Amino acid sequence: MAKVYGQTGNIANKVAEFLQKKGFGASPNHSMDGQLDYSMAAEWAGIAIIGRHSMVITKKHGHCHRLSVVYTNIENLDEFINRNTEDIRWIREFCKKCGKCIRKCPSGAILQEPVALDGINPTRIDYEKCCEGFINYGCGICIKVCPFTTGNYEKIKEAFLKTNKKTKK
Ligand code: SF4
Ligand code: SF4
Repeated sequence: MAKVYGQTGNIANKVAEFLQKKGFGASPNHSMDGQLDYSMAAEWAGIAIIGRHSMVITKKHGHCHRLSVVYTNIENLDEFINRNTEDIRWIREFCKKCGKCIRKCPSGAILQEPVALDGINPTRIDYEKCCEGFINYGCGICIKVCPFTTGNYEKIKEAFLKTNKKTKK
């Protein structure tokens, strides 16, 4: 895990250096820290959907990700981002019906709906309770039980869309 954190940090640094050389403002943020919710940033960038356990889910790697961010002042960046998440939006519906991570979390840290616990930023996780999970259970249970961890993305999608179609009829 430490190796992956190191790699994502290096990649963010390289991207920022590249942009700076091109004359843009660019500041890398490492995946172990940061000034914003990286999962939200990934969803905003159109590369993932946030699961109820608060981690991003993508087609290729389920939720096995570490995210880094590069802030930049490129004003027309929007023109170059493809935010077409239509083919992965079904994940949100799947999550609504699944809820396994919520049921299995030993410390009740995963909230039913995002709540602004600090009065400002909405979160899906009660981090104090999540820490208890790490102390008492070693944790990562929400990752272990999520169907996207061991299941095949395409098979999950196919089965879900088929069942959903039948239910809607
Ligand atoms: S890591 Fe453990 S305690 Fe934290 S949200 Fe996941 S299951 Fe709950
Ligand atoms: S366990 Fe279920 S509800 Fe939780 S993130 Fe995974 S798919 Fe979504």
